[in-house]
Amino acid sequence: MVEAVRTVVVRSVPLPRRTFRIFVELEGMYRNIVEQLVLYAVNNDITKFTRLRAEKYREVRSLYPQLPSHYAYTACQDAAERAHSFLRLRRMGKARKPYPEVRSVSIWLDDHLWSAEGLTSVSLATHRGRLRVPVELNKHYLRYVNRGWRLALEAKVKLDRRNRRLVLYLTFKKEINGYRPKNYITVDVNEDAEAVLIDGVVYLLETNLSRVTLGYYYRRRSVQEKYDRVYGPGSRLAMRVLRRLSNNERALKREIRWKLAALIVREAARRQAAIVLERLGREPANHMIERIKNPQLRHRIFQAAFKGMQRAIEEKAREYGVPVIYVDPRNTSKVCPIHGTEIVYGRNRHGVCSKGGETWHRDVVACYNLLLRALGGDGGAAPSRLRALAPVDGGPVPLGPKESHDPPAVKLGRWLRAKSLHSIMIEHKMSEMKV
Ligand SMILES: [Zn+2]
Repeated sequence: MVEAVRTVVVRSVPLPRRTFRIFVELEGMYRNIVEQLVLYAVNNDITKFTRLRAEKYREVRSLYPQLPSHYAYTACQDAAERAHSFLRLRRMGKARKPYPEVRSVSIWLDDHLWSAEGLTSVSLATHRGRLRVPVELNKHYLRYVNRGWRLALEAKVKLDRRNRRLVLYLTFKKEINGYRPKNYITVDVNEDAEAVLIDGVVYLLETNLSRVTLGYYYRRRSVQEKYDRVYGPGSRLAMRVLRRLSNNERALKREIRWKLAALIVREAARRQAAIVLERLGREPANHMIERIKNPQLRHRIFQAAFKGMQRAIEEKAREYGVPVIYVDPRNTSKVCPIHGTEIVYGRNRHGVCSKGGETWHRDVVACYNLLLRALGGDGGAAPSRLRALAPVDGGPVPLGPKESHDPPAVKLGRWLRAKSLHSIMIEHKMSEMKV
């Protein structure tokens, strides 16, 4: 049994000025509390909510006695999490400022501070008593309600000042029955593509995630330089353009990650297969992106292309009850899956086995080695190697020395449009037959 968790955004109807002002006041107090708590936490190296609460709860309560007491709790949780991620970044030398900035605030709510009243309104505790706020139903929200997800007790709320609305971030949870895997789908995550081994064929699905990150980075930098020259540094106009670029970047990456994760997870569910992933350390794939010298940029590429992609697969898998198996990532692309000997790579991503002399594509090697590790056959025992490789074209050698060694590559646009990986595979088989 696994628990799947999803956040769903719901907006309130536009609120009367007087009501909205109460929420603006509430947000101001909450922000102030969080700012003070974060400062204290960072100065005292506190990352645990319980310790922060123990040391600061009383003081926070006396600061705004009219505020419902549970805001002091949720502000401590919020601040502890901010301090935690800031201190971690600072330890890695990636913090840009000496202190974390509390820029955007969403107010954290627990079950004492909010409740749903049917589907169409929520009630929120404020310094002026409880307020009932009607919400707009949307498709996304109703889908989770109708499919048996249950609403969690915690939620967050943000203020949309321009439209005088509240934006609620609701959490839905669901228990899902997993299954015992009959089969494996292995996924080798790279910076710009993902190699997937499925029914004996490795597919290379292009994601371009590092290219997207780099592209937006350079665009932002040139926009900043241009605006700084014309309007002076830090102009509002520049900020607005930069913010829009960041939002576009985030939305594009999210779409790529979720859609690809959904494609892979659905194939796994259909086959009752487990998904095999590399166990990622803090930044293990650094060797792939070490040419990028800027540590912040490298961190962002790592987060988006490796960690973000894995997390999307994990979350989708939980929703479908698909088991995920993690294996040791060391040398997965360096050792021949058949002979267990070193593969010597030339340029491109092609290499030759030092024993058998057969040619390999790096991503194919990685996928097969992940499968071998999942099967527990990495000790060099031949039977399991053969077992893992048997489905490949009826024989253990996936590619002859003279054949084309590239796995079928699927362009980003093509799989984004595809309904399922299945349809891509059929298309691939058809084109093979034509050849
Ligand atoms: Zn070999």
